[in-house]
Amino acid sequence: MTNVNRYQGDPIRMYDLMDHFTVHCPKCNGKAEIEVNEFLRFKSAKLRCGTCFFSENVLDRTRYRSSGTAWCMHCSTKLALKIEERKIQPAYILAHCPECNKKSKVRENWETYVMKYKEEGIIDPAFGLDLWYQDEVKGDVIWAYNEAHLQEIKKYVKAELRERTTNRFKMTMVEKLPNFIKMAKNRDDVLKALDRMEKKNKD
Ligand SMILES: [Zn+2]
Ligand SMILES: [Zn+2]
Repeated sequence: MTNVNRYQGDPIRMYDLMDHFTVHCPKCNGKAEIEVNEFLRFKSAKLRCGTCFFSENVLDRTRYRSSGTAWCMHCSTKLALKIEERKIQPAYILAHCPECNKKSKVRENWETYVMKYKEEGIIDPAFGLDLWYQDEVKGDVIWAYNEAHLQEIKKYVKAELRERTTNRFKMTMVEKLPNFIKMAKNRDDVLKALDRMEKKNKD
């Protein structure tokens, strides 16, 4: 019997790989690691840069915002309020009325949020920083949260025979991979991209 290189679908879920993220440092652009201390609680995440030693807790980026509507106390004009990035929750704010030019004390419902560095792109879910491991295959972006994730994708693409997991209730990491990674005709290009991503470690 020939030795078939199998990818055994002992199901690694995407979640299992989300305990840390390798990203670009927001200060020096070098390689930084985000540790998630409590499973899937991104509010417990902490960033550390191995290049400039910058560190930050995601909780330090907590801000208050309000996007509610209020009415002028003097002339009842509708006041559009969009307030963000407050570090503390104010007891009230003074809203200026464009109609009567007077100010109204407005008490608002404030909500907390984490001020991410970026809201979209190929970013981590805690800080919103660009993932360290990303590359391109024919115009599609291939990315990995961390080294373990990268190795898992590589193992899968290298395997000649792929077995599906029998557990239908869990979405495995492999099932979540975009199709261009799974397509046989892209195999060599995907492997090359993964190699480039791996080499980035040694830069
Ligand atoms: Zn840095
Ligand atoms: Zn008014």
